[in-house]
Amino acid sequence: MNLAEFIIAVESYNANIDIALVRKAYEFSDRVHAGQFRESGDPFVEHCLNVAFILAEQHMDSATIAAGLLHDAIEDAGATVEEIKGEFGEEIAQLVDGLTKMSELKFKSLAEQQVEYFRKMLLSMAKDIRVIVIKLADRLHNMRTLEHLPEEKRKRIALETREIYAPLAHRFGMARVRFELEDLAFKYLNSKEYAEIERKITESRDEREAYIKDLTIPLKAALESANIKAEITGRAKHSYSIYRKIVHRGVPFEQIYDFLAMRVVVDTITECYHALGIIHTMWAPVPDRFHDYIANPKSNMYRSMHTTVIGPRGKMIEIQIRTHAMHYTAEYGIAAHWLYKEGKKTQGELDRQMAWLREILEWQREMTNPEEFMEYLKVDLFQEDIFVYTPAGELKQLPRGSTPLDFAFVVHSDVGFHCVGAKVNGKFVPLTTRLESGDEIEIKTSPHQAPSQDWLKIVRTTRAKTKIKHWLKQKGFEQSILLGKEMFERELKKHRLALLTETEMSDLAAMNGFTNTEQMLSAIGSGSTSLQTLINKIAPPEPEKGEPSLVKRFIDQARGTSRGVRVAGVGNLMYRFASCCQPVPGERIIGFVTRGRGLSIHRADCQNAVAILEEPERRVDVEWDVEKGQSFLVRLYALVNDRKNILKDITEAISDVDINVRGGEIAVGQSPAIGHFVVEIQNYSQLSKALDKIRHVNGVLSVDREGISDFNKG
Ligand code: MN
Repeated sequence: MNLAEFIIAVESYNANIDIALVRKAYEFSDRVHAGQFRESGDPFVEHCLNVAFILAEQHMDSATIAAGLLHDAIEDAGATVEEIKGEFGEEIAQLVDGLTKMSELKFKSLAEQQVEYFRKMLLSMAKDIRVIVIKLADRLHNMRTLEHLPEEKRKRIALETREIYAPLAHRFGMARVRFELEDLAFKYLNSKEYAEIERKITESRDEREAYIKDLTIPLKAALESANIKAEITGRAKHSYSIYRKIVHRGVPFEQIYDFLAMRVVVDTITECYHALGIIHTMWAPVPDRFHDYIANPKSNMYRSMHTTVIGPRGKMIEIQIRTHAMHYTAEYGIAAHWLYKEGKKTQGELDRQMAWLREILEWQREMTNPEEFMEYLKVDLFQEDIFVYTPAGELKQLPRGSTPLDFAFVVHSDVGFHCVGAKVNGKFVPLTTRLESGDEIEIKTSPHQAPSQDWLKIVRTTRAKTKIKHWLKQKGFEQSILLGKEMFERELKKHRLALLTETEMSDLAAMNGFTNTEQMLSAIGSGSTSLQTLINKIAPPEPEKGEPSLVKRFIDQARGTSRGVRVAGVGNLMYRFASCCQPVPGERIIGFVTRGRGLSIHRADCQNAVAILEEPERRVDVEWDVEKGQSFLVRLYALVNDRKNILKDITEAISDVDINVRGGEIAVGQSPAIGHFVVEIQNYSQLSKALDKIRHVNGVLSVDREGISDFNKG
């Protein structure tokens, strides 16, 4: 295809196209891509031209077609957004920018990169939905030319097309693009099955066409005599749709009765229902196979009536009945919006699509795990909808797999928050029950009911998930305010300080960088700020009087080797060391959430800590925050037969293995005598070496690390 042919074709699809703009975009693209070639050997600009042509086929506007021509100019040809903005204006520059991957950024993993890419794409889509129309056109041409890529790349691209792009096209109602993408992906992912089905479709052509004739001729006559002008078409369904039916139903090709797509397209909605009546008098309808998507459009804007009848020669056949406008929307989906732009006909539908996008974006912001987001996106893209009823007969639309709890949130957030039970078709069911199309649901509520973490596992809709998460977060915030207030007041009391006035509180908050008092209290309650620091600002601590005890000196010295305690997965929590076991760096520790007093740190082998293990929900994993290679102090406890020089011998034995002795004493007067030593070690193997050495000193009965129960003896 050359430019002249392209322009003639574009004009035939949309008479209002700005030819000068399209020509200019082509020339720009041709210039920046000069010297670049596709894997097929074609000049790169051919790809841009093909993408723009696919957009023209969908009757897209001038800006979209121009952006199609420029879509790889930034990413593959080094043009800048500013350049495109200067030449073509803001609108086109934004479209092209929205299509540019962030290849310059570094990502930890392919999954992360993929997520970032889709996230950016979704964001640009939310700004301008035409981005996805161009992206799908780009993907479609890449899939059409996939044979030129190496096998491994082909598989990856085909899989991504099947999992993301085809469902995206479906989501936006672009059936034409979707089916072609699916068939192309099928061709590369299951080539054997693809060839088999294509062969069977070809082989059965004569029979199929004869059958279509048998149905079309009498139907056309019947419709004409009722004064209905109808276009009746029939053809084989797409190979991937047939393949899915074969796999899904576990039957051979020959037994798939609905691989024929029969379509009756008329002028008005009234004629649709009229035509349906005529069809049902000619051939008996199959019960439960009638769907009225005209009265209840699918979430992707699809509208049509589907009925299955026992047709000529006793064969079951599905017939779709719709108007020309519905047909157009069914084929082009979101892209149809630009054709009808003037009439503002599709604005409501467009808004609904945007709502879906915004929900996805909202949801992904809360997901930190890239795999989780991709899984979610895939599931959400594939979702098919079911239709259920309120007891008043009001119709509600929900994704397949929804539960009564999802339904409750669709009725109203308050119904959702207070849902205690549900009746489906008059019977009480568990909230985890999966709803089916046609179900009538009655929700039972109680003012005492409230959402819990478990609810997130029950609900299927993004709406319910977001509401529940938000509620839990809000509740967590409120709880932490209450807790923070309690802790703060208790601390004031402890220091014999008066309660603060509202103004004093908000001053204190501002002084410490909080936006308001609530934020400060919540930070205290959640432990993300130190209560002690705040109190010190109100009343600076008095210096301690007198000589600190030996034990206290040791503990202070030992703790000085660390920067404190690191709490797994939670920022800076307020903590204090338990006085029962006085942990010091080097010892295994665990954290215990206490009410009102922050986190209490115990030695892992502390008697009290054993009790903590029985309340696992209050346990927090913690570790010493020490620098790598940092040494720490350990107290040793020895029983010795008092003899001359024994203290010196022990000290020397320790020094022999290159361990610093920071202090040592033997309390005489008892038999055996008790010795205490403070040593500085780097690791545990050094410690056991030292213990070994001491044990061999003449007169030493036993030596060990100072246990908890021994601690207060010295
Ligand atoms: Mn491209």
